[in-house]
Amino acid sequence: MTNQINRTGLAKRFWEKKPLHKLNQQEWEALCDGCGKCCLNKLEDEDSGEVVLTRVACRLLDDQSCQCTQYPIRHQFVPECIVLKPDNLDTHAYWMPQTCAYRLLWQGNPLPDWHPLLTQDPESVHAAEVSVRGWTVSEFETPIEEWEEHIIEEPT
Ligand code: SF4
Ligand code: SF4
Repeated sequence: MTNQINRTGLAKRFWEKKPLHKLNQQEWEALCDGCGKCCLNKLEDEDSGEVVLTRVACRLLDDQSCQCTQYPIRHQFVPECIVLKPDNLDTHAYWMPQTCAYRLLWQGNPLPDWHPLLTQDPESVHAAEVSVRGWTVSEFETPIEEWEEHIIEEPT
């Protein structure tokens, strides 16, 4: 869920004053820290339900900006891309990255110090080394049979 994010004109610490389902669209989108980790391919163990991350990125993810290169029309290319909303967070939170703001707030946790909403700097997520910048491999060049070789620990 990585898009160009407009964080101008937002009420101070709005996420601490309203529940997730009361946020407006701009507030909801501003919660995304731009880490790009939800755009990595995951492997899920069918028996245990355990989810692990790989460094194999979605074909539309830009490895440097950590943004989706076709966000408004992404479903033409990646129909399975999730549109995260307050009413489907219960279903998806379990596989979201541990540092994902949506997951953290859903769990009742605060945002981390490096979150761009707190630093006012979209680069702070990269400076904190919790984004995928510079370490993904291409889905096009990595056959699915090889994904297990690219399993990683989530940067937190
Ligand atoms: S993991 Fe969460 S915070 Fe990071 S890009 Fe995805 S939606 Fe945004
Ligand atoms: S299409 Fe791919 S890169 Fe774009 S938001 Fe969805 S998972 Fe991320």
